Amino acid sequence: MNQFEEIQQLISNLPSAFLTEKVLLEDAFNRVLQEDVIADLNMPPFNKSAMDGYACQLEDIANELEVLEVINAGKIASVKIGKNQCVKIMTGAAVPTECDCVFMVEDAEELSENTVRCTNTNTKKNICYLGEDYKKGEVLLHKGELITVPQMAVLAGAGYAEVLVSKRPKVTVIATGSELVSPAETPKPGQIRNSNSSQVVTQLEKMNLEVVDELMLVDDYELLTNSFNKALQASDFVVFTGGASVGDFDFIPGILKEQGFKIYWDHTGIKPGNPMTFSENKGKFVFGLSGNPVSSFAQFELIAKPAIYKLIGANYKPLRIKARMNFTFQRKKANRLAIIPVVIDNEGAISEIPFHGSAHINALAFANALLEVPLGISTIQTNEFAYVRPL
Ligand code: AMP
Ligand code: MG
Repeated sequence: MNQFEEIQQLISNLPSAFLTEKVLLEDAFNRVLQEDVIADLNMPPFNKSAMDGYACQLEDIANELEVLEVINAGKIASVKIGKNQCVKIMTGAAVPTECDCVFMVEDAEELSENTVRCTNTNTKKNICYLGEDYKKGEVLLHKGELITVPQMAVLAGAGYAEVLVSKRPKVTVIATGSELVSPAETPKPGQIRNSNSSQVVTQLEKMNLEVVDELMLVDDYELLTNSFNKALQASDFVVFTGGASVGDFDFIPGILKEQGFKIYWDHTGIKPGNPMTFSENKGKFVFGLSGNPVSSFAQFELIAKPAIYKLIGANYKPLRIKARMNFTFQRKKANRLAIIPVVIDNEGAISEIPFHGSAHINALAFANALLEVPLGISTIQTNEFAYVRPL
């Protein structure tokens, strides 16, 4: 098993570490479901007209029909429908039990005020049958699903005015580096703007975690240690960027060890983004991401995101698509899984974009997918197939 596969294995064994809470349906979007959602009714709950038209018996379809009444959605028929009789019916209304067919208004010729004839004797039945979408007692959504737009509709349809979900973890994001200045500042010689905080905070907020604090700190062991300890009190997760490697001022791994954290891994086997720590102590989890912006992006996408989702009890499986290369990819060293920003088009062709490596975050703004070049593979030829992860 290579390093990246080992990490995936470790992630799959992480526990569901967060408590659950009931929230109102309107607050459930983008939360992780923590109960199976069971249908309390059949859907549809009655034979329902799929069209605006006339409900009758199919055997009478060629005959002149007497129209007994009009049934709109929400109403049921008040009369029995006999031979050569029908009711005018609206989409969504209950089809009277005596009827086995609805012909559309467009196929109806009104002969008089209360008689009608079907002009299409090959009509479909146009009935949505009781229970055809789901049956009472059926599991409609599973524990661990992320609640996105369709899930919101399913929850509403199944009467879940309140929903059991994972609690939102609190996170502190700490960008480290004595060279960093905030986006509002103009860097002096040797300085660089902090772009990682915006990137990481947005990733976390997109996952609906609560970012409680955002710090930018110089590489000072004591300052980092003190700020880290404060962050641990206020949050469940701390995400560092920078300082995760082996340079003289890369303090994060040392601080974690000193504070008694268990290090799950300290490198990833991916390129860009090899140095990265994940560690835990007393139910608090810490990610130490690389400082280089593309590295931290790749580490977050491929590793931090699945780990966080696992810890909040979500079944997360990122989509990977096998697509066709529109260019030949070549590299000298094939000792890691390479992650390359690319563009995938509607026909499934993967195109190259200018990309200069781990600091070139601007390249990602042009990309809509990440190409995976597996460990041990140094060339992927044009027209060969490779996996991409849509962004
Ligand atoms: P480090 O991981 O601390 O060794 O940093 C690697 C590279 O990423 C250096 O060139 C840093 O200047 C750069 N870098 C570190 N942190 C950030 C940040 N927050 N935003 C943009 N670039 C950064
Ligand atoms: Mg640094």
